[in-house]
Amino acid sequence: MPKLLLVHQRLCGVYGCPIPYFSNYDPLSELVSALLSHRTKNADSHRAFQQLIQQFPTWEAVRDAPTAAIEAAISASTWPEQKAPRIQQVLRLVSERCPDGSLDFLGEMPVPEARAWLESLPGVGPKTSAAVLCFSRLRRRALVIDSHHHRVAVRLGLIPAKVDVAAAHAILAAQLPESWTAQQVYDHHEVFMLHGQKCCFYRRPACHRCAVLDLCPTGQILQSRQIQSRQIRNK
Ligand code: SF4
Repeated sequence: MPKLLLVHQRLCGVYGCPIPYFSNYDPLSELVSALLSHRTKNADSHRAFQQLIQQFPTWEAVRDAPTAAIEAAISASTWPEQKAPRIQQVLRLVSERCPDGSLDFLGEMPVPEARAWLESLPGVGPKTSAAVLCFSRLRRRALVIDSHHHRVAVRLGLIPAKVDVAAAHAILAAQLPESWTAQQVYDHHEVFMLHGQKCCFYRRPACHRCAVLDLCPTGQILQSRQIQSRQIRNK
């Protein structure tokens, strides 16, 4: 079995697949939420999104509000001064391109075309386009890679370290079985992300209790270094 699938199987055992979807937004709301989440902690971007939708009842109202008011509403996010005009620009383009103001039509398009449509919007890259399709109520088969997922994949040797998060999307998605459902693709991202949050930390990964240590070249190097330094200390 290919390593990526073995890792998936083991991590699903640890974190419990299928994993419930964490949101059920319509795709336009998911797009705004994803734009707010760029380089922001989940709790902060969630707070910014909640404040935005509490203060502005519709996306048209967000689009047409003074930019300073949007900036204030999303102040819990990082760089509200950049995100506020960007969100309004995206909402204006969506209004121009979609007469009903909805992105539900993306549910009918093949995933690569839907992603290309989204990525034609300013500030939308592979992570955001995949998030809109995968996390929204469209529940499409699109693999999201965040920084945790990327770090775990690099350490496991599934992608070279020089491949950045954006480029990793196509490389890792190509390794998934075509027969996988949207739920399985979602689970794949979630278990890698959870593993990055709960075990494969940025600093000091907990390799000694990692379920995929035997498959991980980085973990094995780190473990043998620790054993060596313990032996030196005990001499
Ligand atoms: S063995 Fe260590 S480096 Fe490898 S995936 Fe597990 S925690 Fe991360």
